[in-house]
Amino acid sequence: MNEQRPQCAVCNLGGHLVDERITETDASRAVIVVVRHVPAQVCDRCGTTTITDEVAEELARIADAQQGSAVSGTVVVDFDQRHVAAAG
Ligand SMILES: [Zn+2]
Repeated sequence: MNEQRPQCAVCNLGGHLVDERITETDASRAVIVVVRHVPAQVCDRCGTTTITDEVAEELARIADAQQGSAVSGTVVVDFDQRHVAAAG
């Protein structure tokens, strides 16, 4: 059995979703927050990325937490570490 991976719901190419780490950017607020190493599922055919609701909520929390910081511009945060990797 090699069909354990869920099939892509977006494309009709028979793609499967594989676990990867991606970079997500939240540019909707004053401080642009780039989060690296976000766990996601990526279609091996069309490249569509999917994140779980749980991860999406965590991304929102991370982005919220950066809005009050003194820095402006772009902040880079590692999803696993929750620390600011770079700011500028
Ligand atoms: Zn696909």
